[in-house]
Amino acid sequence: MKNIKMILTAMLISALCLTGCGGTGTRASSSAKSTAAVSSSEAHGTPYSEPNNEATAEKAYVNGDNVKFRIGPGTDKDVIETLKKGTVVGVIAKDKDAEGWSEIKYNGTRGYISSQFLSSYEPEPDGPSVEDPTKNPSSSAAASSATPSSSARQPSSSSQSGGSTGGGRIVCIDPGHQAKGDSTPEPIGPGASETKARVTGGTSGVATGLPEYKLTLQVSLKLQAELSARGYTVIMTRSSDNVNISNSERAAIANNAGAGAFIRIHANGSTNQSAHGALTMCQTASNPYNGSLHGKSYELSKAVLSGLVSATGCASQGVSLVDNMSGINWAKVPVTIVEMGYMSNPTEDRNMADPSYQSKIVAGIANGIDAYFGR
Ligand SMILES: [Zn+2]
Repeated sequence: MKNIKMILTAMLISALCLTGCGGTGTRASSSAKSTAAVSSSEAHGTPYSEPNNEATAEKAYVNGDNVKFRIGPGTDKDVIETLKKGTVVGVIAKDKDAEGWSEIKYNGTRGYISSQFLSSYEPEPDGPSVEDPTKNPSSSAAASSATPSSSARQPSSSSQSGGSTGGGRIVCIDPGHQAKGDSTPEPIGPGASETKARVTGGTSGVATGLPEYKLTLQVSLKLQAELSARGYTVIMTRSSDNVNISNSERAAIANNAGAGAFIRIHANGSTNQSAHGALTMCQTASNPYNGSLHGKSYELSKAVLSGLVSATGCASQGVSLVDNMSGINWAKVPVTIVEMGYMSNPTEDRNMADPSYQSKIVAGIANGIDAYFGR
């Protein structure tokens, strides 16, 4: 009986864990700046001088097209106006609420905008500035003269897409799960009649008690910093725990950002405490929603897993091909789910909670992303 209970629990954990994760429904642009750039620039923002504006407001740019300026913090709030990329606004309170909304002032009107679409730097124009990672991976190398760590954080008033080893490539990181799951159903793919919960709360550490959603954010924030330092433009689906972003919405963030790689960070769970090792997942070639992305997603999954295993010394459980993950099925860009290890295994659970091991995970994933992009 206990076994049956454990199996059921395992199935539940697997279902929770495997149910991908979500976005805000608002749109990001193909050259949206990383949130790292946004936060690192707060210290040197200049006072916004538009008449009638709050003295405390700082100037910022909208970094996506058709970004909704709303009366309140939330995608359910009415839209005041749709803002174009490059629009200058005054920031009254950045990240005013826990779900990543900033209070801003535009044209004399106060309202809210999702913080991910705010940048201290003037965004690059649409078009050829965003490199297509599917093209020749070394094509931007000739433009590389800046130091690798500088471009993602440097103020820029013009295109700088090819200025570092990251080459301006865009990586979207999705820290799996969130503080509270949302069981509201959503289709598992575009046009699907089958549904799954919008997003789940994930598993937790058998030894540490650490919730998966906290672990995934810890690692993801470190990965964000590492990739930014390597010159990538990094988009985060979330940077706090108290959000409600469904799996399809998370994919939409990666899609709208024009990400060259969508990296979904998770940790595994099993009823078998001895189960251990890392794995990555992507769609099959016959996935009805985005099977054409199988090739690239599989290459990405292999490269990331290889980097992760090399850096940490953990066991490899290979690449799993799955077609029932909402966050994969809604992706229009190469995607992988990284299961860093098993939180149901006491040793791996403690390892993953350890900052030095997390640094190895991050270095390994970043090495895999570098390898995928051909460097
Ligand atoms: Zn998970």
